[in-house]
Amino acid sequence: MLVRLLYASRARQPLAPAAIDDILATSVEYNPRHGITGVLCHGNGVFLQALEGDREEVNALYQAISRDARHHELVLLQFEEIVQRDFPGWSMVRVNAAKVNPATMLKYSTHGELDPYRTSGAASLALLKELIAGASLVARNPERGRS
Ligand code: FAD
Repeated sequence: MLVRLLYASRARQPLAPAAIDDILATSVEYNPRHGITGVLCHGNGVFLQALEGDREEVNALYQAISRDARHHELVLLQFEEIVQRDFPGWSMVRVNAAKVNPATMLKYSTHGELDPYRTSGAASLALLKELIAGASLVARNPERGRS
């Protein structure tokens, strides 16, 4: 059974590109083997991640992620059964919110910055979908995150 999980968290340290690279490398290695796809958006010291896949697999990964000392204050924004994936082409893709068109950020938030703690789960999901669909997607090496 397919599910999608959406959560937010705060980085414990300022987000160095190498730290994001490490997380992405782990994800690109692990996620395809477990049928998981998704998006990891970061900015403003905050992570917003969508995970899609089998219910047990997504649960197991979320539990591992929640134990990760690199972030804290995890908030589950959405967990739902889905008919189809929204991010089928990405084992995990990284989006740097700081490089996204400000108008796109403002469309889904009150202050034009990534703040899923003050945004509805539906709006955060809509933001991720638009980032993936549009030209505002930024990744150092886009192919790296493809499944
Ligand atoms: P181990 O590799 O045994 O590591 C144990 C702990 O050490 C980790 O929980 C972490 O706290 C710490 N650690 C591991 N590597 C580093 C490092 N390079 N620098 C600093 N500390 C480290 N993993 C995925 O497979 N798929 C994902 O989609 C995914 N998304 C993530 C999103 C975020 C925001 C974060 C912070 C992590 C994500 N991870 C993801 C990584 C995940 O949290 C675990 O590190 C990974 O599942 C390995 O788990 P493990 O228990 O085998 O940890």
